[in-house]
Amino acid sequence: MNETDRIDGGNAAEPPEYERVESRALVVGAGAAGARAAIELVDQGIDPADLLVIGKRGHGDAHTTWARGGINGALGTLDPEDDWTIHAADTLNEGHHINDPRKVETVTARMPGLLRQLDDWGMPFSRTENGRIDQRYFGAQSFRRTAFAGDFTGEAMLETLVSQAQNRSIPYRENVFVSRLITDGDRVLGAVGTDLDTGEFVVFDAEIVILAAGGYTGLYRRHSSRDDENTGDGPALAYEAGATLMDMEFVQFHPTGMVGDRYGASWDGRLVTEAVRGEGGRLFNAAGERFMERYSPDQMELDARDVVARAIAREIAEGRGTEHGGVSLDISHRERSFIETRLPRMYERFADLGVDMAAEPVEVAPTAHYGMGGVQVDDDGETAVDGLYAIGETMAGVHGANRLGGNSLAETVAYGQATGEAVAERLHTRADRPDGEALSRRAELHLRDLATLANSDGEHDPEALLEEIRSLLWEQTGILRDEAGLEAGLERLEAIRSRAADLAVGDERSRAYEFALNLGFALSVANAILRSGRERTESRGAHFRTDYPDTDSGWQRNICLGRDSIGSPTLSTETPEAPSEAVQHALDAGYELDYHQLE
Ligand SMILES: Cc1cc2nc3c(=O)[nH]c(=O)nc-3n(C[C@H](O)[C@H](O)[C@H](O)COP(=O)(O)OP(=O)(O)OC[C@H]3O[C@@H](n4cnc5c(N)ncnc54)[C@H](O)[C@@H]3O)c2cc1C
Repeated sequence: MNETDRIDGGNAAEPPEYERVESRALVVGAGAAGARAAIELVDQGIDPADLLVIGKRGHGDAHTTWARGGINGALGTLDPEDDWTIHAADTLNEGHHINDPRKVETVTARMPGLLRQLDDWGMPFSRTENGRIDQRYFGAQSFRRTAFAGDFTGEAMLETLVSQAQNRSIPYRENVFVSRLITDGDRVLGAVGTDLDTGEFVVFDAEIVILAAGGYTGLYRRHSSRDDENTGDGPALAYEAGATLMDMEFVQFHPTGMVGDRYGASWDGRLVTEAVRGEGGRLFNAAGERFMERYSPDQMELDARDVVARAIAREIAEGRGTEHGGVSLDISHRERSFIETRLPRMYERFADLGVDMAAEPVEVAPTAHYGMGGVQVDDDGETAVDGLYAIGETMAGVHGANRLGGNSLAETVAYGQATGEAVAERLHTRADRPDGEALSRRAELHLRDLATLANSDGEHDPEALLEEIRSLLWEQTGILRDEAGLEAGLERLEAIRSRAADLAVGDERSRAYEFALNLGFALSVANAILRSGRERTESRGAHFRTDYPDTDSGWQRNICLGRDSIGSPTLSTETPEAPSEAVQHALDAGYELDYHQLE
């Protein structure tokens, strides 16, 4: 049962007051991954009263709602020859063969069934004329396997999952910010959070913690995420608890984000869908050259995301960008009615900003879109910390060096289900209550730190330091990287770290308090991206080193960031396993990646 007690600190030397909440499994994160894991636990016979799902925002208000384009699964609606092994082969090819083939298989083999299940649960998929779940191409796919719900797939999926969770009476707690996972050194004991509405501290006592707290690309100055999401909380919480991070250097940059200097800061980095290029949009530099002729004369604007993003970045870096720091994307050669019908949301968005896409180009530049790296987990989603699991965008291993569009929503539900099954099995077979005293002792140490942080009267504004980290990552470990830049980035980061010891912070309900907590996460994650990027002396997928422009077969390895016995960061590498025979067969068949049909 969930059990709530009040623990009174008593006097000033004691820890601050806090609420204590007990559950068998705690799910941190209520996006698609967290919601799907909780549903699976109940469907595997776990009493919903033994669960708790928490999120730092309102219920149903997770970043998943921003996914629009679609979710992959080899249903074969339009291309019956498609199957999950070919989906796996495409994923490994796009991941440049440093994905974990077993994780890729877990996702791709489960997806046809999971799409049908979402359909049965009422997700409003777009349909073919004969009523089947429609599927379309996304970049780099051999067959049409991206299912979608108009251009609001993520929102439709999360609504469906939230309503399924509510049908199962799964308890949910909103607006709680988790700042620390508590362990005894080997196994997880629970977590500490702050209720952002009341400012009260909460200690969660749990046998199992499933971390589904999203990704880390919101830590880049230009990014396609919501400003307060994807801030690296998941990887940082896991790393601080003793888990290992993997593949953190692989950050996918989408080629076409809106340009803030032209459209206003709040629009900076927001996606201009690939469909604009898919429908014929052309890229021009400030001199009016259609520059993709130099970078990709065959595929032109329709080449893979990393190729087009690098081309645009080079044009801008070499002084051929617009005065606002972008390039022009022009679809005005198309009829107005065509643009209105095929690109309605884009047309409307720019019209609201006073730009007529049918008469003039829009300005775009690359934007950080998805972090392929995250927490290293085993086949069940368990981290190196006993009882701590990581799923969804927080985990690593499925996407390797680059992600196929549509595969991340797939990963959320596939690992939500797989990890839910494994955790349910564990809860059924092991009564394993953690040591409550140890949890209290360790949680109270952190609570003292939190109480000291709140209302602290130091010199530096945490939001300003977070912005410095965002700029640093964009400048030193963006699309084009080199040794000197990565070194400089690490030095800049250390300078920020020393200032972060002296912060000016409001009370526990203030934005400054949340920024201060995020600053700690950002320091960990930025360090991991920079170190891993410096270590990988080759170019592969989304990681491009101008000083090592070629792919080196000796680097078909994953970079892992852990800690040694005294807590200092350590880097090591691991070689991915070979794929199964069935997937190897699909790889050997050499299906063509189709870059011409984009989301
Ligand atoms: C603009 C955009 C478009 C996209 N389009 C697609 C697409 O078409 N297809 C596709 O497959 N993928 C797409 N993606 C990627 C996809 O949306 C995400 O990878 C996926 O939704 C991640 O889901 P998640 O459940 O792992 O995390 P999220 O949805 O990010 O949920 C994270 C949860 O964790 C909670 N949380 C975070 N930190 C804390 C903390 N410290 N304490 C407590 N709670 C916390 C949050 O409140 C939230 O509930 C897109 C991404 C973006 C940015």
